[in-house]
Amino acid sequence: VSDGANKKTSRVRVVVRLRPYMGKQDEKDEGPCVRGLDSQNLEIINWRNATETVKYHFDVIHGEQTTQQEVFRSVKPILPHLLSGQNASVFAYGPTGAGKTHTMMGSSDQPGVIPRAVREVFKLVKAKNEDDRWDYSIGMSYLEIYNEKVLDLLSPSSLDLPIREDKDKNILIPGLTHTTISSFSDFDKHFVPASLNRTTASTKLNQRSSRSHAVLLLKVVRTQRTLPHRQQTGKLYLIDLAGSEDNRLTGNQGIRLKESGAINLSLFTLSKVVDSLNSGTAVRVPYRDSKLTRLLQDSLGGSAHSVMITNIAPEYKYYFHTFGALNFASKSKLI
Ligand code: ADP
Ligand code: MG
Repeated sequence: VSDGANKKTSRVRVVVRLRPYMGKQDEKDEGPCVRGLDSQNLEIINWRNATETVKYHFDVIHGEQTTQQEVFRSVKPILPHLLSGQNASVFAYGPTGAGKTHTMMGSSDQPGVIPRAVREVFKLVKAKNEDDRWDYSIGMSYLEIYNEKVLDLLSPSSLDLPIREDKDKNILIPGLTHTTISSFSDFDKHFVPASLNRTTASTKLNQRSSRSHAVLLLKVVRTQRTLPHRQQTGKLYLIDLAGSEDNRLTGNQGIRLKESGAINLSLFTLSKVVDSLNSGTAVRVPYRDSKLTRLLQDSLGGSAHSVMITNIAPEYKYYFHTFGALNFASKSKLI
């Protein structure tokens, strides 16, 4: 049986976020090469060949002035579905330096999608607990996919965890730490040190953070208070993807993408999966071709709700990567 065959699959909503220009980085920098025109249109200008100006149209473009709160508005509507046992995923895509980590994690004074989503889920559950038919509990796992290995970030080890599927087609990772959390500060207590571990390791291990996918899983389980105590689980994946400069996936033959070592199989396969979900024509969605997409199989497409935030940067040194990221995003945008 082909994955996803004869099933109704939902599309991935694609939004773009352009971060602010950081000023000239060196004398070769000729100023910003991306300009937001309005909330749906932007253009990318090749300063070395000014006739090459390309315009893009998207459902939502978060321009340079966009606040973290505004970006979160693209994510917030999917969260209530978790409480009724539906799955969801949000990922930040784009080249290293374009703002993926800022968008997903943010900082203490400018919290990103992850802390905002966790707070919101606690808020939704609290409101629901006044309804007396279900009990809710929230749990978290945090893992990294690096070189096609699945590594636990809550109990760090070099063990490559297996990905399995149960008879109901739920994806499971036996051995992965799963911690019940009862408040936002409880979440923070586990999440912050695990994220720091990852950042510290990255400086030692050759820019590991730009080559690995950081995957936070939030699980909302609800149990009927009366017999038969039926249970439903909603999963939310919040993912800071590896830098998109690491692959040659944009299908953009005219552009020379910088070769940078081995292809990132999970990122490459994710782009194929998103493409085939959004073109609506694919018979087989290639979930099984990489660890990341296999993990996301029950939370991307099908009845799941997904948002891809494409992060781009305006400096000229990102020109080719920005072009690649925009071409991928526009190919897979909601039509
Ligand atoms: P990535 O994770 O994609 O490699 P980062 O999130 O680390 O990129 O962003 C690179 C730099 O740009 C960081 O110093 C970050 O604080 C800054 N930055 C990214 N996005 C924004 C933004 N929207 N506003 C202000 N600074 C930003
Ligand atoms: Mg980052």
